[in-house]
Amino acid sequence: MKKYLREEIKNLNAYEVINRDYRVKLDANEGVDWIGGLNRYPVDRSDKLREALAEKLDKSPDELVLGNGSSELIELMMKAYLEAGETVVSFSPSFSMYKIFTIIHKGKYEDYPLDGMERLNVDGFIDFVKEKKAKLVILGNPNNPTGTLIPREDILKIVRSVDAMVILDEAYIEFSNYPKGDDTREFENLVVLRTFSKARGLAGIRLGYMIANKETIGYINRVKSPYNVNVLTQEMGLKALENDSITSNNIEIIKRERERMKMFLEEKELKPLSSGANFLFFKAPKNIFDALWDKDILIRKFGGELEDYYRLTIGTPEENDIVIEAIEEVENARS
Ligand SMILES: *Cc1c(COP(=O)(O)O)cnc(C)c1O
Repeated sequence: MKKYLREEIKNLNAYEVINRDYRVKLDANEGVDWIGGLNRYPVDRSDKLREALAEKLDKSPDELVLGNGSSELIELMMKAYLEAGETVVSFSPSFSMYKIFTIIHKGKYEDYPLDGMERLNVDGFIDFVKEKKAKLVILGNPNNPTGTLIPREDILKIVRSVDAMVILDEAYIEFSNYPKGDDTREFENLVVLRTFSKARGLAGIRLGYMIANKETIGYINRVKSPYNVNVLTQEMGLKALENDSITSNNIEIIKRERERMKMFLEEKELKPLSSGANFLFFKAPKNIFDALWDKDILIRKFGGELEDYYRLTIGTPEENDIVIEAIEEVENARS
């Protein structure tokens, strides 16, 4: 949406790469091939992968931008829309990179506390966004680290009510039973981010994508570095799309394991929150992190206001068995 765009970006043209067949290609200072044609720069906007993804999502390719992880796309939104000193609003707790990126891009970060760490008071949040005159609003859904989901109607209410761009970060949406809701044709100020890092099990290739209306995608292309998604990643992304059934199968296993792990943590009175993601967020005595660490089991711990809270990724059934056994031992040793 042009209204919110940074002034400098309103008059900037996107860097365009010429893409045509050739007999001799000596226009890009590329070196000599010695391994599989990797001397060539990638296709700038990942055309083949973008087209395959668009088809899968029932979108047009010009409603998508691909990024070096969805992290890059969060930053590109700030590059395009955030002037120095302007405010980004999210809720808390949420993904710590939102604040770090905001500070790097000279913005001010303000967060609104979730009730009981899991429920968003949507009217209070909308008032907060207005009061802070936010330029960007970021909604993690499901939220990291809590795993909680905001009801669809509340998200749409926020998108409709605020005078700002809304980034809906759906990094974990495939693990929820939530209907997909990328209504970016209807809502010009809505941008949806997804990633190949979680449900698709490809964090190593760094691939994320943005869904937005064509106009917004055009602005993001203005601030994007050329060739931001490398050749190997584009190839692997296409391969992933051809293997959707592996992903859906893994998602079903993770969801089943999540409920098994949740029941176990509840039995241990560690009070996990309901999760729509591939992790559980719970509160535990201080020694649990160290006790698991000593058994070479890594879970995520937090500091500050989240002291004593932990985030446990749902692993394979075998990995989860090991964690369950270890927590049993730790808890038995305590009592
Ligand atoms: C993991 C995660 C991402 C994805 O990051 P990538 O850069 O795509 O790997 C985005 N947002 C949240 C909240 C995440 O937890």
